[in-house]
Order: sequence, then C-alpha cells, then structure tokens
Amino acid sequence: MKYNYCCPKCQNSEIAIIEGGAFKGNIYNTVSFGLTTIYLTRYVCTNCGFCENYVDDVNDLQKIKNKYIKPGSGDGFV
Ligand SMILES: [Zn+2]
Repeated sequence: MKYNYCCPKCQNSEIAIIEGGAFKGNIYNTVSFGLTTIYLTRYVCTNCGFCENYVDDVNDLQKIKNKYIKPGSGDGFV
C-alpha cells in the first residue's frame, strides 16, 4: 500500500496519505515510549477505509529497534 498505492483489500488506487506530527496537523498518530514520541504516516484507502500506519523515519525505526528488539532475538528462530 505504501509502495504501490493500491489497497490490498479492495484494489482501489486512491490512497490518502496522512502524515503525522504536530506541524502536519496530526499529533495523535504516534507511537510513544518513555520520552520518545514517534510519528506515523497513515495510508488510508478512500474506498473501503482500510488504514496502514508506517514509521517513515529510519532514525525512529532505529529507536524502536533499540527499545523493543532484545539482543540475540531474531537470530536462531525461523
Ligand atoms: Zn480499500
């Protein structure tokens, strides 16, 4: 949906992109932990209403990784 702008549910190609962040008028579309707030970009299908949220900033992804991925996890499990 983020990459092909096509809804996976109904194949509509009109996807609204709603960026998160106080300066973008959307302060509630966030993930937060501790003092860290990460803004999400929401992709909304304008036909069926299906939504996807993405963390678009790679720095924020790294923060989430540091917080939630324990060292060693992700290895050794298939
Ligand atoms: Zn749809």
